[in-house]
Amino acid sequence: MSGVVLDGKKINQDILNDLRPRIEALRAKARAPSLAVVLVGNDPASQIYVRNKIKACQDLGIRSLDATPSAEIGTQDLLGIVRRFNNDPQVDAVLVQSPLPKHIDEREILLAIDPTKDADGFHPFNVGCLVANWPAPRACTPAGVIEMLKRYQIPIAGKRAIVVGRSDIVGKPMALMLLHENATVTICHSKTKDLETECRRAEILVAAIGKPALITRDHLSPGVVVVDVGMNRLSDEPEVQRLFAHDARRIAAFAKNGSTLVGDVEPLAMQEVSAAYTPVPGGVGPLTIAMLMANTVRLAEQHLA
Ligand code: NDP
Repeated sequence: MSGVVLDGKKINQDILNDLRPRIEALRAKARAPSLAVVLVGNDPASQIYVRNKIKACQDLGIRSLDATPSAEIGTQDLLGIVRRFNNDPQVDAVLVQSPLPKHIDEREILLAIDPTKDADGFHPFNVGCLVANWPAPRACTPAGVIEMLKRYQIPIAGKRAIVVGRSDIVGKPMALMLLHENATVTICHSKTKDLETECRRAEILVAAIGKPALITRDHLSPGVVVVDVGMNRLSDEPEVQRLFAHDARRIAAFAKNGSTLVGDVEPLAMQEVSAAYTPVPGGVGPLTIAMLMANTVRLAEQHLA
């Protein structure tokens, strides 16, 4: 058996195409939606994420603004930047790229973002709305997973869903969103006893762990739908050879680049055992930005109603 590939790039394009007429309507009515991005310091990974977000805005006709203070900025000055965007009626959505430098009080920054401009859906007010299943901006990665499952018409209601990982940005909101779709949800984490047995019960398995290929063939039951959120950069050659022995193109790319991306699930096992699975890369990754754009457009529609 070979699982259906859940193609994140295609779903990303579908989501963005659905947003285009809504953006056009806003432009015709008032102005383009706008997203303000705050990037503190010069962490290379964060710079790439922010660049991709700004490019997505440009491609869609969403106005993007950015603030790029140095890593030495203090909490108070950073609060000032957030408040400036909060108070700007031309700004619909604000995000502060994480991680922030250690000396910044991340909670205070999160709390300062106007909940009606919370592009990432991380403000505690919006987290409360998620718990209560009230409309509000939702965390982009798990919202993208739900969108993908729905667009592939994969039934969720009544299914046994296992989420491995309980972070505030992926695992917890993922579990709540699956619950609101009427799945029967179990959350596993690093203290879970017998992860294998728990995972084998899954009809939908979401791995959001951050450990390369931690989920192996022994964790998967035939016919499971696997959503692999993990994005781990691997440069250990024997490990890459072991995980991708079936994939000559991947091995060749690794030989050229010196590293490759692997998810939290063993790639060949996922491919062979599942009914459907998200590849890494090209699965969940592209959905996160699409949902950020969707959050921005929805917030603009509310502001310009
Ligand atoms: P965190 O490190 O915040 O959380 C990891 C979770 O995994 C924790 O809840 C932890 O448990 C659990 N965990 C760790 N080790 C084990 C183990 N051996 N067995 C069971 N559970 C374990 O990570 P994030 O949620 O932020 O991210 C997870 C992954 O998703 C990362 O690879 C990240 O890069 C990727 N990611 C991908 C995105 C995308 O757009 N595709 C977006 C965001 C993240 P405990 O709580 O007990 O410590």
